[in-house]
Amino acid sequence: MEKNNYFVHESSYIDEPCEIGEGTKIWHFSHIMKNSKIGKNCNIGQNVVVSPDVVLGKNVKIQNNISIYTGVICEDDVFLGPSMVFTNVVNPRSHVIRKDEYQQTLMKKGSSVGANAVIICGNTIGKYSFIGAGAVVTKDVPDYALVVGNPARIIGWMCECGIKLEFEDTPESKCKNCGKHYVKSGDSIMEKSNIENTVTSVPLLDLKAQYDTIRTKIEPVIKEVVESQYFILGPKVKELEEKVAVYSSTKFGIGVSSGTDALLIALMALDINEGDEVITTPYSFFATAGVITRLGAKPIFVDIEPEFFNIDPAKIEKAISSKTKVIIPVHLYGQMAEMDTIMDIAKKNNLNVVEDAAQAIGSEYHDGRKAGSIGHMGCFSFFPSKNLGGFGDAGMVVTNDSKLAEKLIQLRVHGSAPKYYHKIIGGNFRIDAIQAAVLNVKLGYLDQWTKKRQQNADTYNNLFRKTNLDNIIKLPTINKNFHHIFNQYILRVPKRDELLSFLHSNNIGCEIYYPLSLSNQECFSYLGYKEGDFPETEKASKETIAIPIYPELSLDQQQYIVDKFVEFYS
Ligand SMILES: *Cc1c(COP(=O)(O)O)cnc(C)c1O
Repeated sequence: MEKNNYFVHESSYIDEPCEIGEGTKIWHFSHIMKNSKIGKNCNIGQNVVVSPDVVLGKNVKIQNNISIYTGVICEDDVFLGPSMVFTNVVNPRSHVIRKDEYQQTLMKKGSSVGANAVIICGNTIGKYSFIGAGAVVTKDVPDYALVVGNPARIIGWMCECGIKLEFEDTPESKCKNCGKHYVKSGDSIMEKSNIENTVTSVPLLDLKAQYDTIRTKIEPVIKEVVESQYFILGPKVKELEEKVAVYSSTKFGIGVSSGTDALLIALMALDINEGDEVITTPYSFFATAGVITRLGAKPIFVDIEPEFFNIDPAKIEKAISSKTKVIIPVHLYGQMAEMDTIMDIAKKNNLNVVEDAAQAIGSEYHDGRKAGSIGHMGCFSFFPSKNLGGFGDAGMVVTNDSKLAEKLIQLRVHGSAPKYYHKIIGGNFRIDAIQAAVLNVKLGYLDQWTKKRQQNADTYNNLFRKTNLDNIIKLPTINKNFHHIFNQYILRVPKRDELLSFLHSNNIGCEIYYPLSLSNQECFSYLGYKEGDFPETEKASKETIAIPIYPELSLDQQQYIVDKFVEFYS
């Protein structure tokens, strides 16, 4: 019998009123009771009873011999296997009327129930979950769960496409059939793309996310070092030194124990000593100035220019005295300082230049020259949060000067050459083989990670420009044709400290680099600087904030952050 645009076999009864969607088929000996709502394209088998007020979504498939009681809701794409059973009262007694006690059973989208399974009323069956044949479900079933037995218990997880997911030791699984990506957390799983759509927190840096992408490349090289039991210097270090030298267009790379030690050993190689003066910026990480004082020399600070936060070359010459030996420009946040001017000044005054490129590996000057290759020496840090980060502390000095390279190699091992003969005093500044092994692998990814950082910076710029904040906050500026590697993405903002706590309270990782001019650090009070000596540095230290820029950051996470800025300033 053809009725409207759905099909009902002539042996079945449809009570009025009820709604039946287009394309639905109702086969032999079934009974659809009043006020039930059946969606489009459902298939209702033989001997099925649909009680009053039942709701069935689209494309629900009901096999033979099933009673769907009042209180049951099936969302779209639910599959009910032959002779499965719903109940509608938890504690039925023949002589007690419990008609007002029908409990709701919600079958969520895409759930499947095997033949002869029983679902006790009052429970919610999660989306795309799978109830094994004959199971007796006595409690809620999580999304995607595979449950069997009596009482039903979870024995695994099913993909939306109906294939069992395999989670070995990892919290993530990709369906072998359709490729959908799931993440397990506690006793539930979610589709990965959905997680990213509901951002509730963003870390400042997500090293685990990065490690997940290279784990299979890193594990064997660490194992190799462990198996060799060759832990300090050695072939892995040599390989890294050659690779980093090539990467930064220098002749030599000398691997050392940290970025700090790279700076220290560079100054030692230049025989910096008591009475010497070293010019640098007061707006940097402590190590830049700390190493100067550790050698008994005096840091002479020169203020930054406000646009790029690097040492202001126009102010350097005034700071030079007869005691000045070295200039240490810092390529802050991943953008190079004005090296040409600095090198000119150095040449004119017979000074050496040590680039603090701790935040700037791969950064380029406007003419393509690499960070670390312009000064007499360049110093890199492989601290984990730098763009090329090890699994611990490590660093490197690069140089084109063979005499300096030789001296650095000697200083790294207590100044000995040959072993146990010391003409000069060095220290233990050696780099571990495990660090080198990890860094050799990571260096192969550095350019693509840098590109992602740059893209993320563009994305922020675009997102912020779309808000009405662009008069309130100042976006980072890239110096003309410079290649900025965005170790940090820095904004100048009003009400900086309030913003910082607001972002923290919204689970956004952010940081102040740096909250106090080095000239005003307590330990440097003997240098005699006072507040107001470096107005641009002091201003920047009150106005800047770093927000997450790491390569694995998603668009949704960036949008979340920008939304929170808008919320804060509105
Ligand atoms: C990180 C850093 C250093 C020190 O490097 P470590 O490897 O942590 O010792 C020095 N200078 C600057 C500008 C840095 O950012």
